[in-house]
Amino acid sequence: MAIWTSVLAAGSRIEFDQQWDILFDTYGTSYEALVWYLKDIWLVFKWNLVRFWVDQNLHFGNRATSRVEGAHSTLKCYLQVSTGNLTGLLDRIQLMLENKHVEHEVELDRARQRAPHDVNIPIFAELIGKVTPYALRKILVQYQRLSTLPLPRCSTAFTSSMGLPCAHIIQDRRQQKEDIHLSDIHLHWHFTRPDPNTLGAVELGPLLVREPAIVKPKGRPPGSKNKLKPASSTTRNPSFFELPTRRRQGLRRQV
Ligand SMILES: [Zn+2]
Repeated sequence: MAIWTSVLAAGSRIEFDQQWDILFDTYGTSYEALVWYLKDIWLVFKWNLVRFWVDQNLHFGNRATSRVEGAHSTLKCYLQVSTGNLTGLLDRIQLMLENKHVEHEVELDRARQRAPHDVNIPIFAELIGKVTPYALRKILVQYQRLSTLPLPRCSTAFTSSMGLPCAHIIQDRRQQKEDIHLSDIHLHWHFTRPDPNTLGAVELGPLLVREPAIVKPKGRPPGSKNKLKPASSTTRNPSFFELPTRRRQGLRRQV
């Protein structure tokens, strides 16, 4: 499993080939079917699975579904019960979205007003108060890579996937005696984006959902006492005198 994880985490084509060779050498003989299964069933989707190919796309660091699962868990906290009507469900979802939006705005405002200490460095002069601390920390990691020169060849993966300048771009800026510019940062990371809809109030569409029709269940209504005795019942059959009068008359006629 660890080797397969290394195949998926390969950051370059060469590394991918190396890790696959290791997996093949380790399991190719003893678990041949498994290796062919991984190759034929999973690696045909390598564009969406292996880090090297995934990082060719702009994903802002979202490579897993964990954020969706977190949102699902938060929603369940708001819903509290698994039963309830649709109107109540929508009301609670709306309440959650509005609360989360307010919390997010407050957090953004706090971060904008006061830059965290670790990212308050001269090379970020143009970015402080305009770019989120999360993005600044990602750039900081790239900046710190300059302490171990020479850098390996640029794969462009970081800039392509995150929309942020990689160590090579920062190195160029330093050589030109320039800071990192706001234009180097994708709008996704800016506190203020040109599109007003992204920061506007949460607005849900008109309520088009109606309560489901109540279906009348078939069979005996719940709570009815006119219940047939199950085959396995241990209750004795009623004596003749215990039967209702009409049934007693019927029995006599048959006799
Ligand atoms: Zn680079």
